[in-house]
Amino acid sequence: AVERYASIREKPAETLDGRVISLQMNAGLMADLPSLEGSGADGVGLFRTELQFLVRNQMPRRTELAALYARVLDAAQGKRVVFRTLDIGSDKVLPYMKPQDEPNPALGWRAIRVGLDKPGVMRMQLQALLRAASGRPLTVMFPFVAQSEEYNSACAEMNKALERERILGHAIPESLDVGAMLETPSLAFAPDKFFEDVGFLSIGGNDLKQFFFAADRENERVRRRYDTLNVSFLSFIETIVQRCQKFDTPLSFCGEDAGRPVEAVCLAAIGLDTLSMRPASIGPVKSILRGVDLSQVKSVIDEARNRGEQSVRRAVVDYLRSEG
Ligand code: PEP
Ligand code: MG
Repeated sequence: AVERYASIREKPAETLDGRVISLQMNAGLMADLPSLEGSGADGVGLFRTELQFLVRNQMPRRTELAALYARVLDAAQGKRVVFRTLDIGSDKVLPYMKPQDEPNPALGWRAIRVGLDKPGVMRMQLQALLRAASGRPLTVMFPFVAQSEEYNSACAEMNKALERERILGHAIPESLDVGAMLETPSLAFAPDKFFEDVGFLSIGGNDLKQFFFAADRENERVRRRYDTLNVSFLSFIETIVQRCQKFDTPLSFCGEDAGRPVEAVCLAAIGLDTLSMRPASIGPVKSILRGVDLSQVKSVIDEARNRGEQSVRRAVVDYLRSEG
């Protein structure tokens, strides 16, 4: 698939109406990194650090992690890598941690909730990231932030870790960009101050959609009832885009839908400028974006909404077909 799109690999995802969409890749293992070159991604928009924890049978040590993150940054050769801190719990259970007996793990003790309640591992991970980056820019993103206070507490941990590195006389990152994933509807309605403070936001569409429709992302039967291009969901994402625009908060989208061409076109049409997806999707998404006028797609979306359609998919697909 990567070969098929080789001719546009070095070209930007620039649309007919002049919007340039940044296409980034999702990664999590060292084996993913060669794709950064091969796919033509602008950077790693989501590095799922839990994968490194999941493939082991014991908790990795800080020195090991620091070496690993340094290799990730080396491989990226100056392209931005967004390291997402440990996102465990729910469907991702570490074999060497005490299993939690929870009736609803997806709504349970997971991700940042674990990191804040039992900060040992998060502190170790933040330290490892700071060491790995020493002298280079570092970007860190906290998963599953449901209210602004969780982001503030996580930032306080980051600042403590940074201070500790300073005291120990270690080189600190050249710059530090800290953001949050927007994966629960609640965060979209956080106070203005949160949007002003947060370094950037990334919509975790897989979880956000699951919680928006109250439909388990792992349960095919219910998951497939709800189209990502359902007008309710699309309008909700548009609201998030508009709040971010109001406060100049950089926003990206990193769920699986970003890698689906029709979905990607619609997300870009409602105002997203950065999409992060599996490497194999970058070619097809770039290819479709380069041939489309997003302002026209936006009109098609608005018209379908005004007609009261449940999903804009039919209208957008028909439009894309008619344009060839
Ligand atoms: C998401 O929820 O959309 C996301 C990108 O994170 P994950 O799939 O790892 O939960
Ligand atoms: Mg998620």
